[in-house]
Amino acid sequence: MEVLEKKRQINYGEGINRDDFPILLETIRNHPVVYFDNAATTQKPKQVIDALVKYYEHDNANVHRAIHQLGERATAGFEKARNKVAEFINAHSDKEIIFTRGTTEAINLVATSWGRKFVESGDEIILSEMEHHSNLIPWQLLAKERGAHLRFIPFKEDGTIDYNEFIKLMNKNTKLIAITHMSNVFGTINPFKKIIRTAHDWGVPVLLDAAQSVPHLPVDVQQLDCDFLAFSGHKMLGPTGIGVLYAKTQLLENMDPYQGGGEMINTVWLEKATWNEIPHKFEAGTPNIAGAIGLAEAIDYLQDLTMETLTLYEQDITTYALEKMMALDGITIYGQAPERGGVVSFNLENVHPHDLAHFLDQHGIAVRAGHHCAQPIMRKLEIASTTRASFYFYNTYEEIDYFIDKLQEAAKFFAF
Ligand code: PLP
Repeated sequence: MEVLEKKRQINYGEGINRDDFPILLETIRNHPVVYFDNAATTQKPKQVIDALVKYYEHDNANVHRAIHQLGERATAGFEKARNKVAEFINAHSDKEIIFTRGTTEAINLVATSWGRKFVESGDEIILSEMEHHSNLIPWQLLAKERGAHLRFIPFKEDGTIDYNEFIKLMNKNTKLIAITHMSNVFGTINPFKKIIRTAHDWGVPVLLDAAQSVPHLPVDVQQLDCDFLAFSGHKMLGPTGIGVLYAKTQLLENMDPYQGGGEMINTVWLEKATWNEIPHKFEAGTPNIAGAIGLAEAIDYLQDLTMETLTLYEQDITTYALEKMMALDGITIYGQAPERGGVVSFNLENVHPHDLAHFLDQHGIAVRAGHHCAQPIMRKLEIASTTRASFYFYNTYEEIDYFIDKLQEAAKFFAF
């Protein structure tokens, strides 16, 4: 089989060191853990865990304000992290990197700071039908407040968005396009290049929800020419509570602050204030310093491996999993996009996703069951939920084989 041939070529051991991940050595119910819930969050290598401990043991202080050694070290670490992120996604400048709590907060920041200033009654925002709630609800809130309208690019049966329908949605009222770069349900990598080009022809900015793409694909914001890009550290080996909003300088300069407080100001009077420079204008209060430092370490880890190796390996392991899964009786796989990442949503006939997830958990396999924060997708597919297996570079072909065995056992177990 072609995939098995490739498997031999891409040696699992090459550059990928599973022993770096202490949690992958855990046993769950007396079985070695098989962690296939990477779209929800990834595991952390000890390099990232050590960086957090090192920071708290040696450098901890508040950033930007302190005139002492520890404060200088903390500030240097935090700003170095910003520079690392900028370099990783090839931002034009560090100023274009705003630290947030995650993708969700990054999108809310745009909806609040950019949306409240520029979106008016009658304006239209184009989303797709396959958005995570994080890239839907902030726009619903904004649309309601401003009297704007949301328009949706439909997805087709194979889980790809319909580019021709997108073209029809564009008009003089379109103010923003906000779409997922890679779907957390179908794994689809959307035709963002064409979308961005078309949007810019109309003078409309584009936000990419990159929660599932930045951890898995090389992403170059200058090449993409996207206007906003949001992602989360915890989905790419980093700590929870840290994420990134990338935005072009000009947009950030023109946006109002997101939250008020310390750090985001320049001069304050009792009745008024002036704002700090970007990116600090958008970072009110004490930031997640350790989180940013941990994220920088995660990026170092990914860069050592190289995103190209990671992508290739993940594509291969996903193809391997898909071939084996498609051969199972009674399985429905949602999403068959030609360009896709390592997220596979499926259902087994007559088995409720929660029962299946519970069954797999009994064998040490962690998958997700539910609507995956994408209820409109489930509604369109006329299902309540799916089971989702999502892979990262530390997963192995052997784990996939074990997972397939257990799926077969589950099908028999629940048969009636
Ligand atoms: N967007 C997509 C496509 C996601 O998959 C997720 C998380 O699963 C999010 C947004 C939200 O990310 P976070 O919860 O880290 O803010």
